[in-house]
Amino acid sequence: NKSLSELDPEVSAAVDAELARQRDTLEMIASENFAPQAVLEAQGTVLTNKYAEGYPGRRYYGGCEHVDVIEQLAIDRAKDLFGAEHANVQPHSGAQANTAVYFALLKPGDTILGLDLAHGGHLTHGMRINYSGKVLNAVAYHVRDEDGTVDYDEVAALAKEHQPKMIIAGWSAYPRRLDFARFREIADSIGALLMVDMAHFAGLVAAGLHPNPVPFADVVTTTTHKTLGGPRGGLILTKAELAKKINSAVFPGMQGGPLEHVIAAKAVALKVAAGEEFADRQRRTVSGARLLAERLTRPDAAEVGVKVASGGTDVHLVLVDLVNSELNGQEAEDRLHSIGITVNRNAVPNDPRPPMVTSGLRIGTPALATRGFGDEDFAEVADVIAEALKPEFDAASLRARVRALTEKYPLYPNL
Ligand code: PLP
Repeated sequence: NKSLSELDPEVSAAVDAELARQRDTLEMIASENFAPQAVLEAQGTVLTNKYAEGYPGRRYYGGCEHVDVIEQLAIDRAKDLFGAEHANVQPHSGAQANTAVYFALLKPGDTILGLDLAHGGHLTHGMRINYSGKVLNAVAYHVRDEDGTVDYDEVAALAKEHQPKMIIAGWSAYPRRLDFARFREIADSIGALLMVDMAHFAGLVAAGLHPNPVPFADVVTTTTHKTLGGPRGGLILTKAELAKKINSAVFPGMQGGPLEHVIAAKAVALKVAAGEEFADRQRRTVSGARLLAERLTRPDAAEVGVKVASGGTDVHLVLVDLVNSELNGQEAEDRLHSIGITVNRNAVPNDPRPPMVTSGLRIGTPALATRGFGDEDFAEVADVIAEALKPEFDAASLRARVRALTEKYPLYPNL
């Protein structure tokens, strides 16, 4: 019964160093967040010891009476939060949630229509070397050159031409809202299923700041660790008539034993997400992203070739376009890292640079909003980023400004 630091000082030291890194830097990777301490606690419980193949009330193992309570809480909270008829809380990740949906509703060789990876889609939406692109026949729609928004006319035309069995709406790097009614209409026009992957914006949906895809889609998938702010994991919401198919695709189709410790943490996160404090955090998230977009479209940014894809944002992230900048995505990511800001480089639509380099940055506000940042703080962050992307910049003073912000909002003070 030794503690982690006694039993394994090497792992323990690296965990401590990671906590220090999270505390001392500005985390702006759009898909990341800081899970509440209660979520960390739930995930670190004895539930990790329990096998529970099956579903609450129908398990293939004995001794499931307590994990049944927990999993049912997670299911009920997910259904309530998003207004869904059925929820499966077992997918180990977002990618596995998506793959389980394909496994449930499609056959190998069936056609899917999803947003191009290079235009902001996710690799599970039909990337060639992902399961979705290897086993299914993936066709991609795109964003428009003029304004960087999804080209619904192209979606409709491709749907008519390729007759996909399923249309996928959702994204990993897209700064605008999707028109779910339009997607539904296009899907209905060819008798296709509509899946919405709301992994990125689920937290905004929960807070009522983004249209809810549940009334429009046959299936909605999400991760639980992005804007939703919970443990790493996946979640599937469906209409009651698809419940059985989805459940058996997750288990026994794709997975064995569910991670009940993670499911407990999902239940806690879903409880948090139904509260007013969470809604306030999502409002600061969206407002912070808007401020960031505004300040990165000022004339001094334009002068050094910094632009914002689609001209702004409606969500929790900004896609910075560096096509005309001397800095490529890799250099810009490294530059921000050197002053204590963590972001990821990201291809922009029609990116002239190779995928490992890119001409863009994806910058998100969820983690900092969770930390407590408000408009004034996000304005300061935006100014620091704008300064850092200029050819001449004073690294020491920018580092000091970053430090002042991290000190203003202590992270995990009780850990
Ligand atoms: N779907 C979308 C839209 C995503 O952005 C991501 C993660 O980046 C995923 C699914 C996959 O989630 P995970 O990393 O948990 O497999």
